[in-house]
Amino acid sequence: MADPTWTADVVVVGAGFAGLAAARELTRLGHDVLVLEGRDRVGGRSYTSHVAGIPVDMGGTFVGPTQDAVLKFAHDLGVSTEPTYHDGANLIRWRGAVRSYSGTIPRLSLGGLIDLARVRWQFARIAKTISLSEPWTARRAARLDGQSLGAWLRSVHAGSTARDLLAIMTRVTWGCEPDDVSMLHAARYVRAAGGLDRMLDVENGAQQDRFPSGTQHVADTAAAELGSRLVLQAPVKHIDHRHDGVRVTTEKGCADARFAVLAIPPEHRGSIEFAPPLPVEHQELVAHWPQGRLSKAYAAYATPFWREHGYSGEALSDEGPVFITFDVSPQPDGPGVLLGFVDARTFDGLPADQRKQRALECFASLFGDEARTPLDYIDQRWGAEQFAAGGPTAAVPPGSWTRYGPWLRRPVGPIHWAGTETADEWTGFLDGAVRSGQRAAAEVHARL
Ligand SMILES: Cc1cc2nc3c(=O)[nH]c(=O)nc-3n(C[C@H](O)[C@H](O)[C@H](O)COP(=O)(O)OP(=O)(O)OC[C@H]3O[C@@H](n4cnc5c(N)ncnc54)[C@H](O)[C@@H]3O)c2cc1C
Repeated sequence: MADPTWTADVVVVGAGFAGLAAARELTRLGHDVLVLEGRDRVGGRSYTSHVAGIPVDMGGTFVGPTQDAVLKFAHDLGVSTEPTYHDGANLIRWRGAVRSYSGTIPRLSLGGLIDLARVRWQFARIAKTISLSEPWTARRAARLDGQSLGAWLRSVHAGSTARDLLAIMTRVTWGCEPDDVSMLHAARYVRAAGGLDRMLDVENGAQQDRFPSGTQHVADTAAAELGSRLVLQAPVKHIDHRHDGVRVTTEKGCADARFAVLAIPPEHRGSIEFAPPLPVEHQELVAHWPQGRLSKAYAAYATPFWREHGYSGEALSDEGPVFITFDVSPQPDGPGVLLGFVDARTFDGLPADQRKQRALECFASLFGDEARTPLDYIDQRWGAEQFAAGGPTAAVPPGSWTRYGPWLRRPVGPIHWAGTETADEWTGFLDGAVRSGQRAAAEVHARL
């Protein structure tokens, strides 16, 4: 065998929050770590760009209470958060009319609200029974995993309001439709986030705070600590593994190490050739844990004009392609910035000028004509990324958890698995990513 380009105790593949957290923890524990990242930047699904010169997060954005791992990770790296602006009335465009409301639950028909409360209560009761680490052992695991969230909603006779609101939640949470995601996955995921209120709310919820300098600032700071032990533009193509080590091959060279931590989503494990091949259950897992697709649009204005009209900038819409908005203007003064979560299915295939036009039309239908003339506009299509496409997280379909779940993070010889999809708490979030990296680091440390 040729001499390796690099040697290390542990090679970490992927420099998202999971890989960087794993590398930081292993380094702290005294191990020699090398991180190989396929893109020309770190952060993965945390990527900060600019609109009118203001940093905006094209991927992971918000953090909130109980997300202690990511909050500590950022704090230790000297990156601070600030509260998400949400003073004033929220808006909802529903069945063709725009109305205002306060809190998380929009003002809809009384019947619709009662039905929504019933469906949420039934969902929460199911979620409470599911083990986070071994969901396939839940009493009704086979039945829950045998149906999609959409099928479950139909089975409990959810009315159209509840179904449509939960479809919006599904698009923003998993980047798919309710018929695409397993009910077992949905219930486990919500439990891992501490419940529906915690997952969906701004105040006391997952949208409570954000990083004014951008989430990628956290990743960049962690990367700076690694110096030359981080190699960018080095997509891992091939991993040879034996009981006593790995050889990890990229276009830039290869690394020999005792262990590897693969901090990439399950679907992307499929782009790597393993020798010997992964056990068949792992191969099946990779084929049945697909990433969802979610897009984002930002528009910057001279001022946050919606605030003058008493609006928070937070809105919901049952007409796409923008279906949720937030005010992420730099505080306290300065330009106004609206963030829109966009339905990839009706957006990603459009040319750039049409995407901009459609997104601005949606902003204008909620906040008025002023929204049609921004200072600047930018969007991001995660499903159309050239490398490691997809996000926000895996849209796990019916059948996958009960068939392949036990292999999600089971090591294969010297190969350990991280990435937010493997986390037991805040799965799918930045916090889950950090937790998963730290968990994989502890596993490897115990073996070293
Ligand atoms: C639109 C959107 C909005 C989101 N909003 C939020 C939010 O508000 N709050 C929140 O907490 N989370 C949010 N998320 C989710 C959050 O961004 C992710 O949970 C988190 O960033 C995942 O981190 P990770 O390290 O597990 O994976 P990733 O960030 O995907 O990192 C994996 C890394 O591995 C690299 N890689 C893949 N394959 C290879 C290979 N073969 N060789 C080398 N490198 C490879 C990739 O390039 C990537 O850098 C959002 C995500 C998206 C897309």
